[in-house]
Amino acid sequence: MFLACRRLPKVELHAHLNGSVRPQTIRKILEERSRAGEALPVTEQQLQDITACGDRSLADCFRLFDLIHVITTTHSAIARIAAEVVRDFAEDRVVYLELRTTPKARPEYDMTKQSYIEAVLEGIELGLRQLPAAADATAAANAANADEAPPAPAPADIIAVKLLLSIDRREDSAAALETVQLAARYKARGVVGVDLSGNPYVGSWGQWREALAAARAAGLGVTLHAGEVYSPAETARMLEFRPDRLGHCCYLDDSLAAELRASVAIPLELCLTSNVLTQSVTSYPEHHFAEMYAAGHPVVLCTDDSGVFGTTLSKEYAIAAAAFKLPLGALWELARRSVEFVFGGEEEKRRLRGLMDRERPLMLGAKIERGNDEA
Ligand SMILES: [Zn+2]
Repeated sequence: MFLACRRLPKVELHAHLNGSVRPQTIRKILEERSRAGEALPVTEQQLQDITACGDRSLADCFRLFDLIHVITTTHSAIARIAAEVVRDFAEDRVVYLELRTTPKARPEYDMTKQSYIEAVLEGIELGLRQLPAAADATAAANAANADEAPPAPAPADIIAVKLLLSIDRREDSAAALETVQLAARYKARGVVGVDLSGNPYVGSWGQWREALAAARAAGLGVTLHAGEVYSPAETARMLEFRPDRLGHCCYLDDSLAAELRASVAIPLELCLTSNVLTQSVTSYPEHHFAEMYAAGHPVVLCTDDSGVFGTTLSKEYAIAAAAFKLPLGALWELARRSVEFVFGGEEEKRRLRGLMDRERPLMLGAKIERGNDEA
């Protein structure tokens, strides 16, 4: 099933740029800095342990986030991470990627929100230039044994990468508005929306409402991290705002869940591994994906922080298949439906619908006709 999920053309709508960094890259950047005379923030052994492959504890995940904060102090490190993240998602056959990141002003490192955004966009553009062309990718796919070999990556002319700018919950209304204004200014270079994220215990909704309304007025998509902790009053106000999408929504009481389902069907970005690893949800089968999916509510599988949580979008589809007993056809439908919720505009949606529909018989045709859909 995992290889079938790899072959599936996928849409990723909730991926934090910095959390998607390869752990090996964190190690390489810190080692380079150490050779240049900078002190390591952890011991050599700790660095090896935290960045090693395999299952990571929640404490290790938080240490990784701390290290990411330490390494993202230069524009070159930020661009390098963005380029690698684009290549990694393409490698996983993601055909449409919305990355999100919080523009940071760190004057001690000569970094403004604007220079941070520029570095991210340069990195994305570099990553796209480094991908193979469609013809080369097709040749590689044809050369490989279709049943066993991993599929070719999404080539440069197939994957589209867009950027969302996140407002950190620590930011006041002026800082939030600055981020929204920058998002509007960078629309021509692929910024398509705004997100609200950060420590869910910090700040209050009234701080960002005006900035988020300005984002909407500027034609940007709006998505909110919601219900990451039990906070029914805030979640109710978020639902009232009618954002274009919501992330997580792990903690909804019955009346909020009913309101969400009765809403104009605000799509949910659901991140299975992230929610289970951070203990927002006890297990995969108990994840609220099941309830929302069964109710026909629009849901999109996403990775959240693929580097830190050691996942990929293909893995998330494979986990959903196992936990919720979804056959390949249902996974294809899930990916196909995700197209409708992208912030990249109608033309992009038409392109993606065409691409998905063209690939459907290649993915499923033979299996479905034989009545042999895998569970
Ligand atoms: Zn998130």
